[in-house]
Amino acid sequence: MPEPLDRFPPTRAAGLQRLADFVPHAGEAYAMGRNTDAGPGGHLAVSGLSPWLRHRLLTEREVVAGVLERHDPRAAQRFIQEVLWRTYWKGWLQMNPEVWTRYQAERDAPRASGLERAVAQAEAGATGIEGFDDWARELVRTGYLHNHARMWFASIWIFTLGLPWALGADFFLRHLLDGDPASNTLSWRWVAGLQTVGKTYLATPENIQRFTNGRFKPRGLATRALPLSEDPLPAARPLPMLEASPPAGRSLLLVTGEDLNPESAFSVAWQPEAIVVMAGGDPGRFAAAAAEDAAMRCAARFDRPARVMPMASHDAIRDAAREAAVDRVVVLEAPVGPMADALERLEAELTEQGIALIRVRRSWDDRLWPLATRGFFKFRERAPAALMADGLRILSSATGISPRRGACPAGASSSRSR
Ligand SMILES: Cc1cc2nc3c(=O)[nH]c(=O)nc-3n(C[C@H](O)[C@H](O)[C@H](O)COP(=O)(O)OP(=O)(O)OC[C@H]3O[C@@H](n4cnc5c(N)ncnc54)[C@H](O)[C@@H]3O)c2cc1C
Repeated sequence: MPEPLDRFPPTRAAGLQRLADFVPHAGEAYAMGRNTDAGPGGHLAVSGLSPWLRHRLLTEREVVAGVLERHDPRAAQRFIQEVLWRTYWKGWLQMNPEVWTRYQAERDAPRASGLERAVAQAEAGATGIEGFDDWARELVRTGYLHNHARMWFASIWIFTLGLPWALGADFFLRHLLDGDPASNTLSWRWVAGLQTVGKTYLATPENIQRFTNGRFKPRGLATRALPLSEDPLPAARPLPMLEASPPAGRSLLLVTGEDLNPESAFSVAWQPEAIVVMAGGDPGRFAAAAAEDAAMRCAARFDRPARVMPMASHDAIRDAAREAAVDRVVVLEAPVGPMADALERLEAELTEQGIALIRVRRSWDDRLWPLATRGFFKFRERAPAALMADGLRILSSATGISPRRGACPAGASSSRSR
């Protein structure tokens, strides 16, 4: 097995094991240790759950619930907040898809040869900047970087090397096993001063030295981080209304790399006639291999064979629907990104054949995404009440806020290291 998949085995069983191993450390130990990047093999204070969460081999809900079973909500506050960051970014991008369109346009813009060379040098870890070069190589080799290293790397890429942020975001997306259109694009924009307009993140040698246990103290870093700018974004679009559960009747279940855990999304009474798992190509083949795992689980849960097909196999999906004599394909919503685009194209082709594509949204997303209209700290204030309605009552105190009182939480102040 290649090294990344060795450390992150792409099965739900492996994700559950990682969660079980991490839960005892998700309280104060996490809050104390999460900012330190101890280097490859040393990322023990953080969960390393991101590839499983990214593809929903594990759901945010079960991770949060698992942590709350073991910890006092206040002790787990920091960890839960990080999981909520993920949800916040997803919801925000869902309502501001223009940001994803612009990112792709910037990424694909023609490059002068000097830029091409400088990007290649940065990606190869050949800039001569201590730490930065090590993180570039760690990313390519392992498919993972500590959160603080991602922040430092993005800051040095943009402000010291003067490279386009979208090309750095693209480098991350091509190699991170947790590569995510929302978390990645919006975090890079946050560092660049585009996301929280005018506020940038500057990596300093002292901060790097302190939080790498003295492993690195790079010289020659930029000492100022002037925010990048862009044309004003269009107004956020309202979240499209979607079904919360599939309609009754004969359906084909389509599973995608955006949510490889459909067993937990549908009631036991619902039964598809046929199942297709659409594997997405991705770094280290995590999602592709995880699709095989999802197919096995789905076949067992729904008592039907589940076929794995490549991402663009529209004809094969249409044929599978015909073979099963169904006129609807049910899929868990794919958030803004390549899979959502692929589903749009698929929908157009299916519609021509008289087959409907029905998107279903999980209640976690349905309750939380609409709250991501402003900054994260507003989102976090409103999240507890939404989660209480979803049965996670204890989370209200986990974020330090009582949904009834709506009071300001202890420790709610912004931290630059997130
Ligand atoms: C420039 C940059 C790019 C990033 N790109 C991605 C990406 O493509 N995909 C991705 O999942 N995360 C991304 N992050 C966020 C964060 O770095 C990772 O989620 C985290 O490092 C994953 O490691 P972990 O599972 O050990 O996290 P833990 O600290 O154990 O956190 C638990 C979970 O919470 C979520 N989480 C934690 N921190 C953040 C955060 N700052 N923002 C959003 N969610 C968070 C993740 O799902 C994570 O698995 C990026 C951050 C930066 C600064």
